[in-house]
Amino acid sequence: MSETNMFEMARQQVDIAARHVGVDDGILAVLKQPKRELTVHFPVEMDNGSMQIFTGYRVWHNTGTGPAKGGIRYSPEVCLDEVRALAMWMTWKCAVVNVPFGGAKGGVACNTKELSSKEIEKITRRFTWEIAPFIGPEADIPAPDMYTNPQVMAWIMDTYSILKGYSVPAVVTGKPIELGGSVGRFEATGRGVFLSTMAALPHIGLTSGMEGVRVALQGAGNVGSVAARYFSQAGANVIAISDSKGGVYNSNGLDVEALISCKHNNRCLDSHELNAEDITNAELLEIKCDILVPAAIENQIHRDNASKLQCRMIVEGANGPTTPEADDILFERGIFVIPDILANAGGVTVSYFEWVQNVQELLWSEEEVAERLQRTMTRAFSEVHQIASGKLLNMRTAAYVLGVGRVAKAMELRGIYP
Ligand code: NAD
Repeated sequence: MSETNMFEMARQQVDIAARHVGVDDGILAVLKQPKRELTVHFPVEMDNGSMQIFTGYRVWHNTGTGPAKGGIRYSPEVCLDEVRALAMWMTWKCAVVNVPFGGAKGGVACNTKELSSKEIEKITRRFTWEIAPFIGPEADIPAPDMYTNPQVMAWIMDTYSILKGYSVPAVVTGKPIELGGSVGRFEATGRGVFLSTMAALPHIGLTSGMEGVRVALQGAGNVGSVAARYFSQAGANVIAISDSKGGVYNSNGLDVEALISCKHNNRCLDSHELNAEDITNAELLEIKCDILVPAAIENQIHRDNASKLQCRMIVEGANGPTTPEADDILFERGIFVIPDILANAGGVTVSYFEWVQNVQELLWSEEEVAERLQRTMTRAFSEVHQIASGKLLNMRTAAYVLGVGRVAKAMELRGIYP
């Protein structure tokens, strides 16, 4: 297996878990394939008057437990196998937190750094038009992912609503609050990363909370920067953070509010302004810290660097940052891993809350959302940890045992029609 084929990696993770779940072979074969895959090629008129063809995807992995749910990613690397893997991970993630959605994912191959806002809007609206027959509040509900944001969700919601002839806020989550977005959704994934870390601290011998705990984060986007803020507010020392261009490091701790403003204002992390040293993304992963949070892209922790990491715990804000080979090395080394399908499930959990509010035309308070998220994340952590301790498994395999087990049961109960 190539270490970088995400779909093969996702399938391999299911096989590892299947040894401990007792899933019927037929059901297992179904669960290892996506249910539906849509590839679209569509033209967009660029600002300079030229026409460019873009390719987009929407994949449903499984809808055994409810409507398909998953983000839309804009990145030059987006390809069918990546979207398949991400869709499959959504299925397990929803099942781990017991949210009644199936798994989906979408993406458009494009580089948002080279596009104007008008061009991103045109790509979004045309892509929405292409996938419109398949999405909808009861069918498939997109959300933000890498390089998409609440504004992109607003354009999707608007385009879909125009096609329908009436407003359909529940077609996407992660919308601006003014359009029916939920309070707390923007922060939800980073907050979930923080909450799952809090639940895990006693298991790595840090019994007195977050005070002084050294945290390094790869990725300063939605997940990384929001998580950094929660860690810092709880008294942790955020010693390093990075973006696609590289990272900044200060062993005494960085000023998190300053780094968030710096990234926002300059669109980069300026070591001089932040009183820090420059480091590369590879160096960041290997610095000595208590908690390492990969919150950027996949395949970052692999067989070549897993033995060099100097952290006590890895909390996977990103999807698929660790390869199965690295998992084995980390387990042997006693590094505690909170896997992506648990650690970053706060996003889909609050997306579910947003959808519930939209379909019932309710508005929950920030406290209500935060309290429900805390309950969901803490319960999911404890269920996964119990399986890990009971069956002597690593946390990823335990999370798969829970997630795959729940979805397999649903498939079994529904049966195969006709
Ligand atoms: P984002 O677009 O807001 O931020 C991505 C960050 O990653 C940016 O700081 C970017 O500079 C950095 N990055 C990109 N390429 C990099 C590289 N090669 N090396 C290092 N850093 C790089 O995206 P996000 O929403 O924060 O998503 C980050 C990860 O979290 C993705 O794996 C995504 O699938 C996952 N995730 C996001 C959500 C969500 O609600 N946004 C939910 C669950 C999982």
